[in-house]
Amino acid sequence: MTLNSIGDAVLCTDLAGNVSYLNLVAEAMTGWSYKEALGRPLAEVFRIIDGNTREPAASPAERAIRQNRTVGLAADCLLIRRDGLELAIEDSAAPIHNRDGRVAGAVLVFHDVSESRAMVLKMAHLAQHDFLTGLPNRALLTERLAQAIGLAQRRHKQVGLVFLDLDYFKNINDSLGHAIGDQVLQSAAARLTAAVRASDTVCRQGGDEFVLLLAEIEQPLDAALVAEKLLEAFAAPHLIGKHELHVTLSIGISVYPADGNNVDSVLQNADTAMYHAKACGRNNYQFFRPDMNTRAVRRQFLESGLRRALKQGEFRLHYQPQIDLASGAMNGAEALVRWLDPELGVVCPEQFVPVAEECGLIVPIGRWVLREACRQTRCWLDAGLRVVPVAVNISAVEFRQKGFLQGVAMILEETGLDPRYLELELTESILMQNAECSTSVLEGLKAMGVQLAIDDFGTGYSSLSYLQRFPIDTLKIDRSFVRDITIDADDATIVSAVIGMGRNLKQRVIAEGVETREQLAFLRSRQCDEGQGFLFSHPLSLADFADLLARGDVAGMCAR
Ligand code: C2E
Ligand code: MG
Ligand code: MG
Repeated sequence: MTLNSIGDAVLCTDLAGNVSYLNLVAEAMTGWSYKEALGRPLAEVFRIIDGNTREPAASPAERAIRQNRTVGLAADCLLIRRDGLELAIEDSAAPIHNRDGRVAGAVLVFHDVSESRAMVLKMAHLAQHDFLTGLPNRALLTERLAQAIGLAQRRHKQVGLVFLDLDYFKNINDSLGHAIGDQVLQSAAARLTAAVRASDTVCRQGGDEFVLLLAEIEQPLDAALVAEKLLEAFAAPHLIGKHELHVTLSIGISVYPADGNNVDSVLQNADTAMYHAKACGRNNYQFFRPDMNTRAVRRQFLESGLRRALKQGEFRLHYQPQIDLASGAMNGAEALVRWLDPELGVVCPEQFVPVAEECGLIVPIGRWVLREACRQTRCWLDAGLRVVPVAVNISAVEFRQKGFLQGVAMILEETGLDPRYLELELTESILMQNAECSTSVLEGLKAMGVQLAIDDFGTGYSSLSYLQRFPIDTLKIDRSFVRDITIDADDATIVSAVIGMGRNLKQRVIAEGVETREQLAFLRSRQCDEGQGFLFSHPLSLADFADLLARGDVAGMCAR
């Protein structure tokens, strides 16, 4: 009764190896009833094979008797039931001793592990495959690429790596939703798989990036032919629900050993070539070339993106409130540019302003920012909102432009904004580069009635005597000093000194990057005029900032 109550199968043999007992579970698993099995050779009732070789496996009962000890079954063992069904099992066998202590037979205990073995296989599959498309993932690709390189090395062959990205995929996701986006990725995966040979690996690298591993090619041209085939395969639209979606590819190709002799470099170079393809107008393929250094290609990619962004109006302004620390009122706001790239998402100025400066695009971008900030502020004034002055960042390249002063004047005139509502932020280094020339431009701006601020104050090398001569209204203490004012005595001293200096020069002092109540308490105790930072508000989208102006209530922002 006991043995019939347990979940494991139990089967006993005598010394000769004939079956002497089966419990109920053993009956079910072997397909033999106790009565029928009794006295038959174990091998007949308990048929086991090695799951890998499919050769009959050695009987553990025999070994247990021979060695007079408990033995386990080989891994991956399959039990073949009387009706031919195969069950993955795990078991052990132990000798049975009689009253004299002599071996009298063996007892086998086993159970069905089909489910857990299937689970192990499933887990292994999941770890190496992409859930959405079922394609191999990055981990498996890396493994296969390493294998392919090893093999190609021995056989003096080449390996082609084709890196591709769906053009403007983010547009689809954003406008039609993720469910449609997912289906496009699945449809793309199917087309890619159909376009290559079975021996090639198509892998999803993540997002909308795929990689094809062409394990053995004779010449780089073979990879180009594959790329052409892919471009052709994507010429037809994808039919997703009621949508007909056109998706093109940007493809980069690198070849082992010419473009790299290890997994990382071959992958990296294919990626670089792909960015080059994007910069070349998308829907094309490019081979990696050694002169495409990664930085330069990314730069070129960003540059072409920025050009398009200007044309297609992909820039937005966010506004971050500047708070009077004594009253909690909003005294101003800084306009901060954002680039909404259809592929990259929201790109922050730190990622693209340096490139825009290098290629001169900062001039038209800066002009757009200035015009937009002025136009918007004028709109708010016209709508009767309680408007605060808006600060606009000016880059060195813009400031040095010949027509800068006239440009500002023109935009003010064009938008009809009262110059009192405009502040321009310049960094110390901009002003110091050519102090004489700076003074005349600053005076020109002051004459128009525009406010002037020094941004990131403390990070440059200002000459205090010049600083005094510049017609500056506002000093903005760089957030690197503010960050540690409550823990670093030097920073606390610097911030206190700048606040004192601003007071003496009759300048308004704004602490940047105020994030904590402790920082706020310190700044208040030193009578700093204003603060700007996440503690009060993150930079707000146009709609959110307009809401804030309409409510006319910022008291809640200044945490008590
Ligand atoms: P910035 O002029 O010093 O602007 C302040 C930056 O600090 C903003 O970053 C803002 O989001 C961030 N910030 C504000 N409060 C906090 C805080 O509490 N903690 C921390 N950690 N950060 C805070 P953002 O918008 O990424 O801008 C970065 C820089 O890019 C700006 O520094 C400015 O130099 C430049 N920039 C932004 N917009 C423009 C623009 O229209 N034209 C030009 N030429 N440069 C711009
Ligand atoms: Mg600024
Ligand atoms: Mg700053």
